[in-house]
Amino acid sequence: MSDWNTTFLNPAFSHLSVEERVLNLPRTRTILRRFPGARVIPIRHHKDVFNRPRQDRKSQSLSPALILGRHENTFLLPGAPVCQSFGHEFMTASLCMNCPYDCDYCYLKGMYPSGHLCLFVNLEDLEAEIRARLLTAPLYLSVSYDTDLCALEPIHGYVRAMHRLCSLLPDLVCEVRTKCACTALLRELPPLPNFILAMTLSPHEVIRISEHRTPSLKARLEAVRTGLDRGHSIRLCLDPLLFTPDWQRQQQLLMKTMLRVLGPERLRKVRDFSVGSFRISQAYLPALRKCCRTSPLVQYPFRNVRGYYQYPPSLALAMEASMTALLRPFADEEKIFRWEADP
Ligand code: SF4
Repeated sequence: MSDWNTTFLNPAFSHLSVEERVLNLPRTRTILRRFPGARVIPIRHHKDVFNRPRQDRKSQSLSPALILGRHENTFLLPGAPVCQSFGHEFMTASLCMNCPYDCDYCYLKGMYPSGHLCLFVNLEDLEAEIRARLLTAPLYLSVSYDTDLCALEPIHGYVRAMHRLCSLLPDLVCEVRTKCACTALLRELPPLPNFILAMTLSPHEVIRISEHRTPSLKARLEAVRTGLDRGHSIRLCLDPLLFTPDWQRQQQLLMKTMLRVLGPERLRKVRDFSVGSFRISQAYLPALRKCCRTSPLVQYPFRNVRGYYQYPPSLALAMEASMTALLRPFADEEKIFRWEADP
């Protein structure tokens, strides 16, 4: 995340806006101690800052503040139709709004009005909801869709907390999606069958032009290698696949790097693979395009299919089929999940 350390901007999280009602909670105090030089600004409600109208999201994301607040209403929500469900009826929970990384194509740019990060400190309420839900049915929960929890782990420790919960609750399956090279974390945590680390991989060129502040492909794969060697349940997400003029070559290079760093035997140990071409709700694309005016990845003339912008079907199919064909020598068909729109 080096480009946050520019000389003329405040460093990231130099300002912390904290709801008065959570200011003295032990978790809040612990988080605040991690920012000894930061200016702490008490606020009434996180929405007063995060949801303000007319914010300059792009400028804010160059030097974001951290907002600490309390999540109200229910944490557990059904997964959005654009998400892979991996054969489960799955739920998501948002512990943080916005991400320390800055991918041009990220739907968060269309969803949230602010470039600041808002972290919810009432993790106990999520745990209570999970426990209540498990009284009636098993739960498949994705906790890192609206952020990258692993990248923020030194601040909040929520990945460890969710892992601990999985160790206590075998009917809870928790997926943590990330682009973080979280090798140390995977070394530290004992593997659990119901705790899935889902690493998103993109071709080097896509990372270079659009996934700002994220770890390199090699660093992500080295974390995956550690995870697989330790017996962790690892999912590889080739999703979203993005169009570049040489996308076929980029996919081949990606596969070559995966093979070089992981080797065929480790690839066979991957729990499953997710393959899907880029898609986004029609509600989010206009703001995303406004935020990334010069990114060809988001200015592509997508087709609107029942409320979701996507590539023309022939292109989406070709990109997904090509990636799947590259994976097939190392993964049985039932281990490769492809996103399909609702009929
Ligand atoms: S890592 Fe994921 S959540 Fe974070 S900016 Fe990139 S696409 Fe968005």
